[in-house]
Amino acid sequence: MRHPVTLNRTVTDCQQVTSTHVDAVVVGGGIVGANCAVELARAGVDDVVILERDAPASKASGRAAGNLTIYRHERFGAEASRLGRELYEEYERKYDDLTFHRANSYSIAYSEEGADYLRSEHETTTIETTLLSTEELAEREPEFATENVTLALSIDDAVYTDPEQLTLAAHSVARDEGVTLVQEAARDFEVDNRGIAVQTTDGTYEAPVVVVAAGVWTKRLLQRAGTDVSLRARTSQIAILDPPTDVDLPLWSAPDLSVYGRSTPEGRVLFGGGTSTPVTDIESFRTRATVPFLRQVGELAPEVLPFLEDATLHDDWAGRVSATPDRYPYIGQTEIEGLYVCAGFNGEGISNSPFGARLLANLITETDPLVDPTEFDPTRFRGDEAFEISDAVEWWADR
Ligand SMILES: Cc1cc2nc3c(=O)[nH]c(=O)nc-3n(C[C@H](O)[C@H](O)[C@H](O)COP(=O)(O)OP(=O)(O)OC[C@H]3O[C@@H](n4cnc5c(N)ncnc54)[C@H](O)[C@@H]3O)c2cc1C
Repeated sequence: MRHPVTLNRTVTDCQQVTSTHVDAVVVGGGIVGANCAVELARAGVDDVVILERDAPASKASGRAAGNLTIYRHERFGAEASRLGRELYEEYERKYDDLTFHRANSYSIAYSEEGADYLRSEHETTTIETTLLSTEELAEREPEFATENVTLALSIDDAVYTDPEQLTLAAHSVARDEGVTLVQEAARDFEVDNRGIAVQTTDGTYEAPVVVVAAGVWTKRLLQRAGTDVSLRARTSQIAILDPPTDVDLPLWSAPDLSVYGRSTPEGRVLFGGGTSTPVTDIESFRTRATVPFLRQVGELAPEVLPFLEDATLHDDWAGRVSATPDRYPYIGQTEIEGLYVCAGFNGEGISNSPFGARLLANLITETDPLVDPTEFDPTRFRGDEAFEISDAVEWWADR
């Protein structure tokens, strides 16, 4: 371990100030924090505490679409996706309330640029994919309007799940690994040569390793510790439509149109998107979808799926998602010895946090890293640079 000091868990009461010594503190009990805790415990870090100021999965992790893109593409390499699938399938086996839904999945291009991207994706990925012409898509999935489609890429057996249950499953596995979940908010940090003291609403946790995995709150927390990362908050939104007729749709994503969708297990239709609006105040955030997004869904739904012409809105919501300038997350140590970060997953944190958590554990325990960590180095940006928030569904911008 980079930090040879292993502090036993002791509690010192000193005039109402409680100080708890542990081996690692993870700040944030969303999917990222829970997966980090599982990986740290499994890497041999004995006494891990998760600090969550609210309920686990109460923020982005409970509001996501739950599409596990690691079954559809390999953004951070085949090994990273494989590891994620393995961990989540273990969660599914162990946690009764978690169900994985399998369906065909299509990336649908409505432009020549999109078609080029799908061809290159088809050539490079090790996941089995099939390129479909407009006619082939129409034959396979007759609900889709195909007159403006240029090409489609099909993947059999994609997976989606309830992201809240997935996060609770991660917490349950973490608990089985000996991790303690504490409902307290991290307020401040004090750094000295023995480690880092995290002051919370109710006391202090001291540890040689502190991981900030607090989603869009990560930047603010790191600033309190005296460091920074370049991270902004943006929205991601969902509309659930009641279709006039029952239909079983595959997962689909249309980056040219900035939307994606699928059927829900209840037979409704989920539309996701609205991902480029910055969140100016992360605390007073409105958790309903915005009017422009709902209008966009109202216009696009019948264009993509004509049977939705007379669909009605059943539900809608929005969540706060972190954005980074290069769309890569921050995984690793900050400028402060012992202070780590795992955040900035740019709208795919449900899918990609297993690999992020494993890489983080590799770095903390100084074992062979799963992938080259330099691309994820939290110090690669100054922290205060301005950058535009791009549309998260438009993944060919990442080329
Ligand atoms: C509408 C929508 C759809 C999405 N769809 C998908 C999808 O299909 N697939 C996918 O992979 N991803 C999807 N995402 C993205 C995904 O939800 C996020 O990337 C992921 O949930 C981020 O997890 P997190 O743990 O970093 O953040 P969060 O879930 O936001 O967790 C951060 C936690 O930190 C806690 N916290 C904050 N400050 C403190 C403090 N001071 N002390 C203690 N705790 C603190 C918060 O209470 C919160 O629980 C979607 C997101 C949204 C909103």
